[in-house]
Amino acid sequence: MLRVDDLSVRYGRVEALRGVSLELRDREAVGILGANGAGKTTLLATIAGLLSPARGTIELDGRRIDGSPPESIVRGGIAHVPEGRRIFGSLTVGENMRLARNARRNDGNFAEDLEGVMELLPTLRRLLDTPAGKLSGGEQQQLAIARALLCEPRVLMLDEPSLGLAPQVVDTVFEVLASLRARGVTLLLVEQNVRRTLRLVDRAYVLRAGNVEVSGSREELADFEALADAYLGAA
Ligand code: ATP
Repeated sequence: MLRVDDLSVRYGRVEALRGVSLELRDREAVGILGANGAGKTTLLATIAGLLSPARGTIELDGRRIDGSPPESIVRGGIAHVPEGRRIFGSLTVGENMRLARNARRNDGNFAEDLEGVMELLPTLRRLLDTPAGKLSGGEQQQLAIARALLCEPRVLMLDEPSLGLAPQVVDTVFEVLASLRARGVTLLLVEQNVRRTLRLVDRAYVLRAGNVEVSGSREELADFEALADAYLGAA
């Protein structure tokens, strides 16, 4: 459903992605692994329409989306939970969630969808009137996921959702991702946490210095020794 072909992205003279190709099928969970600076954040930001590629194409269901503005990419069905979560700290949890309303594909029944999201993320229900800035890191991450889900995405892209969280809270975030997966949400997950990611996803791509170094099913990657090097070593 999502196809990235020969994608190159530059920041001035820095070539952050150099001809990356990947594919994401309906209902699949796919991981993007790699060291700091390998290009993972750049890849998601480019798919989300926040950066323009120097070369290559991005297609959703056979239609080119590269070059489209971010809001139309969200309406097209690709939601992005960026690194650092970007929630509005002075707004309440409920207000943050209602912001998603403008980004939805269909008008649908928002109240019903909100209820569904709170069933999935029950922690948020008792925090509805709390300013989001008062939430813990794990709660903020759940709010960022909730907001993305309320955009009715066909593909949910997450950039390092476990970053900076205590190990127990990381467990909660991965449990949430597992339940999304069980519900058939298509996931593209950028992570530093190789082992947990390989337990969750169907397949993964390992980026190194802007290239896909290796890709395969989680079984194929589980015993791929270079994985640890790609993850720990310099990009
Ligand atoms: P991290 O886990 O640290 O976010 P990453 O794999 O997501 O790493 P990117 O953030 O995509 O990697 O960065 C890829 C390359 O692009 C790196 O060499 C980085 O230094 C460079 N880069 C990223 N953002 C910018 C920017 N705004 N201006 C210049 N270079 C940048």
